[in-house]
Amino acid sequence: MIAIYPGSFDPITLGHLDIIQRGSRLFERVIVAVLRNPNKMPLFSVQQRLEQISFSTRHLANVEVDTFDGLTVNYAQMRQAQVLLRGLRAVSDFEIELQMAHTNKTLSTQIETVFLATSNEYSFLSSSVVKEIARFGGSVDHLVPPHIALDIYQCYNQNSPMLNPITTEAMPRKSIPTESPMEMLREQEA
Ligand code: ADP
Repeated sequence: MIAIYPGSFDPITLGHLDIIQRGSRLFERVIVAVLRNPNKMPLFSVQQRLEQISFSTRHLANVEVDTFDGLTVNYAQMRQAQVLLRGLRAVSDFEIELQMAHTNKTLSTQIETVFLATSNEYSFLSSSVVKEIARFGGSVDHLVPPHIALDIYQCYNQNSPMLNPITTEAMPRKSIPTESPMEMLREQEA
């Protein structure tokens, strides 16, 4: 059975990787599918995210990384997948995930959504949380794989806060970008 794990993965976190790892034990093949969403201004380009995910899952032989746009069920049908894999962290996830699963069922009765409950240690973790911490100078080394932490620090133009003994304290004001590079770019263009 082939499962699609769709999402933004901007960037992939240890929470996502936990779902991928556990999914890879349940399904013959897991396709991690990065959604190309023109309405969102991501921190990392689709190409960067594909590379980040490929590198993070290189030890899992039955995991593939791909990108798609449009309806997830159409993509799943095209890839002959029977399952949409999703992770559940909290009740707030449940409401929206259930609505999505029901909606997808009306589009294709052949495809089942399978939810994996988050591992306890990642129940608070999201890509947004990671970006928020990094943006204000905190360490994200415990939340994402090391190479992705470096990508994130580079994006916010910081050295790893682990080099700094005080990881939770705000960095000097002038070294903290208050906006992401993308936001600054947009403002300059406006
Ligand atoms: P989306 O833009 O679809 O929300 P995400 O990349 O944020 O994409 O998440 C993709 C999937 O991974 C979703 O099902 C989400 O609930 C799940 N997920 C995200 N973070 C975690 C986590 N820490 N533990 C378990 N599942 C997670």
